[in-house]
Amino acid sequence: MARVLLLKNPPMYGSDVKDLQRILNGLGYNAGEEDGYFGKSTEKAVKSFQSGYGLVVDGEVGTYTWSKLKDEVKTIQSQLNKVGFNCGTPDGYFGSGTKRAVRNFQTSKGLTSNGIVDYVTRIKLFESQPPSPSKNYYESRNEKAINTLYNSTIRSAARSVVAKALEQGIDILITCGFRSNEEQTRLYNQGRTTPGNIVTYAKAGESYHNYGLAIDFVPVDENGNTLWSPLSTFTTVGEIGERCGFEWGGRWKRKDRPHIEMTFGLSTDELQAGERP
Ligand SMILES: [Zn+2]
Repeated sequence: MARVLLLKNPPMYGSDVKDLQRILNGLGYNAGEEDGYFGKSTEKAVKSFQSGYGLVVDGEVGTYTWSKLKDEVKTIQSQLNKVGFNCGTPDGYFGSGTKRAVRNFQTSKGLTSNGIVDYVTRIKLFESQPPSPSKNYYESRNEKAINTLYNSTIRSAARSVVAKALEQGIDILITCGFRSNEEQTRLYNQGRTTPGNIVTYAKAGESYHNYGLAIDFVPVDENGNTLWSPLSTFTTVGEIGERCGFEWGGRWKRKDRPHIEMTFGLSTDELQAGERP
């Protein structure tokens, strides 16, 4: 059972007092030097915390005040983690890792970087949203793929898909745009007459890729690594594609989740016969 901390003469001393002082200072209640001695300034800080949280203002730190202090720190730690400033598992202690995370957060917001969650820091922290990628990791590579597409309508729709996915926090790599008949044949043979798994059911001329009317995509993380799961991310991007005028392969009986195509009302038979949008 933890002891009740309060002002005494001579003052109470210990690592528990130091923890308390760290928390109070970190939360913006000036407890003075973190020296492990429960002095007047520590008592004053405890009282302002208690008054701010509607507790009995007696300057004594018993079980209840302790739990309130730790809950408050945990809440801040969780939020720091959530908005991308890692401070480890929320433990309710205002240690050096938490202080560093607060400092980094403050710097990112142009605030004084003192590691103290004062009023303004707290407001900024809780109005912050998790970071979403602001830039497409594979922008130039994606542009290359997009530029293989048939016309400006599908090219600009493809760019919209990339941008709208980014807005929802999903960065994508376009792995394929136009695909030549030779490449289609090579892919079709894979898993049939050549080693590997079957990757397509379309022979040369039977895929919208062969006319520059389809793209394949895969979500990537902040380091550009491909993310083949969760499938829900493909659904999100597929639905964005649908809103941008594409058909999504995730709707088909033989699902092709990474694939969206813009048919312009033409079947592949018509395209093979030479018709174009
Ligand atoms: Zn495809």
